[in-house]
Amino acid sequence: MLRDEDRIYTNLYGFEGSDLKSARARGDWHGAKEIIQRGRDWIVSEVKDSGLRGRGGAGFSTGLKWSFMPKNVKGPVYLVVNGDEGEPGTCKDREILRHDPHKLVEGALYASVGIGATAAYIYVRGEFKREIQALERAVAEAYEAGLIGKNACGTDYSLDIYVHVGAGAYVCGEESALIESLEGKKGQPRSKPPFPAQVGLYSRPTTVNNVESIADVPAILRRGASWFSSIGRPKNHGSKIFCISGHVNTPCTVEESLGIPLRELIEKHAGGVRGGWDNLLAVIPGGSSTPMLPKDVCETVLMDYDGLSSVKSGLGSAGVIVMDKSTDLVRAIARLAKFYAHESCGQCTPCREGTPWMAKMMERIANGSARVEEIDMLLDVSKQIEGRTICALADAAAWPIQGLFRHFRPDVERRLMAARKTAA
Ligand code: SF4
Repeated sequence: MLRDEDRIYTNLYGFEGSDLKSARARGDWHGAKEIIQRGRDWIVSEVKDSGLRGRGGAGFSTGLKWSFMPKNVKGPVYLVVNGDEGEPGTCKDREILRHDPHKLVEGALYASVGIGATAAYIYVRGEFKREIQALERAVAEAYEAGLIGKNACGTDYSLDIYVHVGAGAYVCGEESALIESLEGKKGQPRSKPPFPAQVGLYSRPTTVNNVESIADVPAILRRGASWFSSIGRPKNHGSKIFCISGHVNTPCTVEESLGIPLRELIEKHAGGVRGGWDNLLAVIPGGSSTPMLPKDVCETVLMDYDGLSSVKSGLGSAGVIVMDKSTDLVRAIARLAKFYAHESCGQCTPCREGTPWMAKMMERIANGSARVEEIDMLLDVSKQIEGRTICALADAAAWPIQGLFRHFRPDVERRLMAARKTAA
């Protein structure tokens, strides 16, 4: 359980102002000049040593990612902050943007020093109107106070920060699609390599990081890598913002220690499962693309990267979707399959053809018109799609279906047989 003094997001619920004066009263921007003056190598090694892993879903070491950026390059280098937050069940970055935007602006400054960036772009999901207003105000305040812009914080480092409003495609949350979109093109993922660290925004070296990853950075640099790495478990360090929704008594967004047991997270912060723990059917633990877990796994699973991958799921964006026994799981997954089919950008044949095919199959299973043998066919297609496309959207479409049948196949088979009997 996270101690109050270890909390990074002390204004997550917006009880205080999001303006610069209020942010400073919470400790933001404290010692900014000294942090910048400690230099690029110190910032990267501190973030690396902290064990911070990307909070957007992939979980890659943030400091290591920064260290891939080339040094001594001529011309511009960019930081891009991913605030596109489109994963169903996820609502964490929007709370940072709305209530604590100065943490993000300050973090973008340090990250930019760490990678040698000459400009930073914060790409925000277009629907986040209030969040965009709050962020734009924070950026304007930071300019006015001399915290960013020319000679940021009174140092010889200069950085411009731009807020870019997205146009509403889920796939733009993928870093290279986001870069394409920023360049004014259709938001379609690029084939990799080359990776953005070599050829990114406007073909220049670029690092793309999630909002929460960047907003964690000021606290790490102020309080030290060892403080951050003392929270959580080995290789799963620090606190994390979890979004708990669905059939719980008090849905919420909360910052907790990585590695907290799922049951404790739900019971302590979300008022427990509607109708009590025994009324739990399944949980999607990390946003809609992560495979669901049945109740017996939920009893003991730990909410971090390794804990969830050990039960064949993932921490993803930490969007915890709780489903009680009233849930029609097949219908729920059919709906998600439809979502992913709709969001496919269409570049890769397995994704373009496979995701609508899976959605149609799931619909047939949900309405009882499929045969039991079709389950294997569907799983076979999901395996053929997985890992064979440019980006992970196709995997994201396949995993929820695989998770459903991994844990609930006998129930689905009984449902299909009962439907056939009724129809006969
Ligand atoms: Fe587009 Fe799907 Fe291919 Fe991703 S996997 S690039 S969304 S077609």
